[in-house]
Amino acid sequence: MDSLRIFDTTLRDGEQSPGFSMNTAEKIRMARQLAKLGVDVIEAGFPIASRGDLDAVRLVATEVRDVPIAALARARKDDVSAAIEALEPAAAPRLHIFLATSDLHLRVKLNMSREQALEAIASMIRFGRQHVGEVEFSAEDAGRTDIQFLCEVCRVAVGAGATVLNLPDTVGYAVPEEYGAMFRHVREYLGDPQGVTLSAHCHDDLGMAVANSLAAVRAGVRQIECTINGIGERAGNAALEEVVVALAVRKESFGVSTGIHLEELFPTSRMLSEITGAVVAPNKAVVGANAFAHEAGIHQDGIIKNPLTYEIISPQTVGVPARSLVLGKHSGRNALRLSLRDLGYEPSDGELAEVYRRVTALADQQKDVRHRDLVAIAHQVIRRGAVAVAAEAASTA
Ligand SMILES: [Zn+2]
Repeated sequence: MDSLRIFDTTLRDGEQSPGFSMNTAEKIRMARQLAKLGVDVIEAGFPIASRGDLDAVRLVATEVRDVPIAALARARKDDVSAAIEALEPAAAPRLHIFLATSDLHLRVKLNMSREQALEAIASMIRFGRQHVGEVEFSAEDAGRTDIQFLCEVCRVAVGAGATVLNLPDTVGYAVPEEYGAMFRHVREYLGDPQGVTLSAHCHDDLGMAVANSLAAVRAGVRQIECTINGIGERAGNAALEEVVVALAVRKESFGVSTGIHLEELFPTSRMLSEITGAVVAPNKAVVGANAFAHEAGIHQDGIIKNPLTYEIISPQTVGVPARSLVLGKHSGRNALRLSLRDLGYEPSDGELAEVYRRVTALADQQKDVRHRDLVAIAHQVIRRGAVAVAAEAASTA
């Protein structure tokens, strides 16, 4: 079975989106958890963006030694130099250079001709390779780039020393058949050169980021760029947990394996929610509070007889705590704090008091408070996201 690399960009594409910024300590905590999860590359930031970003990448690279660390740079010398500086302490650095290649971006955003773009790509990759062993090149807006020009871009990037070619659907415009066809075309043109990995990076503007990523896998891509909880620019990136669980559940169909420890998915998702304060929708695939809840009587009956009737993955597989929750009216706050910790929450004293109040109120109505009830309460109370707070403010206004 072919192995597929998971490139996590939670700390870069995810972190740069509104409401998801993290300080350096939080980035390091998250990076350690991503290493535990088993991702193949951690993209830690965009060093030219600020001194803080550069320092954060340096610190992540210093602290996390067992996973390659990537830093992003535009195809400009000051950008690339900043990324090289940030990656200097890394055990396994990866320089990630990008340039937009669609005519629209070249004309409107960069004011560059195609020839100038090819020249910038070649010279910056060569410059990067003098300092960093592994260089990835991304053709931004590849999904809307003329396919012949895209092939030429790839040939030039490989010729200059890039060993990973990422062809993003930057604006989330592609549909699976088209996105897969783009990779097939490029592979055919390049003749599958040894040592070069094709990579997909999809956005969810039309809700197809995961589907497009999987179509890319079918077309021979062996690196997927994704984020925990699918956070990222606008509607977000492909959700890491959805990609890897789909590949695991439908292993025979895809024929690739990843190094992800699935049981770390739920704790990782909860840690990100806790750090950023942005909660996951209850109906979110794989890690939502309701992802394993069964409400309808017919479904509950089936699950009791055999979980396979309505569950294609068990909650334990993705790390939802197996221990059933026995939180009654008489449970203490310490037991509650431990249960919350199991779920990845570290409540403040005030938050714990509020969760406790709601749990005991619920226990008055129903004998036991179940695991999913606690998840729902914790979602509502602990470090609620800006969206939830804004919605509350709007509804009381
Ligand atoms: Zn992106």
